[in-house]
Amino acid sequence: MGNSLPKYLLKAEQVKLKLFEGIFSIIIMSINEPNNNEEEYQSYDANIKLYRGILDIDCPEFSKTITIDKNIALVDKSDSKMTITLCITSEKMIWRFKAKSLKSYFIFSNTISLSRIPTWSISPICQVCTFGINSKNSKNCGSCGIMICKYCLAEESFKIVPDMKPVKVCKNCEEVIMEQINLADQFLNQRLFRLGSGY
Ligand SMILES: [Zn+2]
Ligand SMILES: [Zn+2]
Repeated sequence: MGNSLPKYLLKAEQVKLKLFEGIFSIIIMSINEPNNNEEEYQSYDANIKLYRGILDIDCPEFSKTITIDKNIALVDKSDSKMTITLCITSEKMIWRFKAKSLKSYFIFSNTISLSRIPTWSISPICQVCTFGINSKNSKNCGSCGIMICKYCLAEESFKIVPDMKPVKVCKNCEEVIMEQINLADQFLNQRLFRLGSGY
């Protein structure tokens, strides 16, 4: 902690305030009905807006708002396919967004990744167990941003955002992340955004 925040946090806060807009084709997959043949899913063309970590999806068939917070896992991205895949843990749904151009893919991918980085909060007490803390004996959770004591910090580090270093998280987020990993493993049959020694 201290006065100077890590650079990536500053960047994240700046990017959250920029409006991203684009047209993507989307497929929505249910984790409860795994189906590896993506051709079989209906694909929707939708207008996407991302601003302040809120993703608005609008197409003739439906509209949906997704808050990019700890309940959303950035499961996968593919530069070659120009796709970004999100898992909404609470709904057990996987959303795959396919960009129409490489430029749009890169901007969306960058914006959504940085939107997933939480805004850090400041607190005189641990926001999990209420133990008194100061800047020396506390950390911010890399997934939800709350300020926590060392006892409420999970041992393992996790990769919240593809292409970024694993981060330390609070024990509440660890539980959510473990669930996300299980869901994603089950569905995509691959090891995801896990591990690393942290920093
Ligand atoms: Zn605590
Ligand atoms: Zn957390």
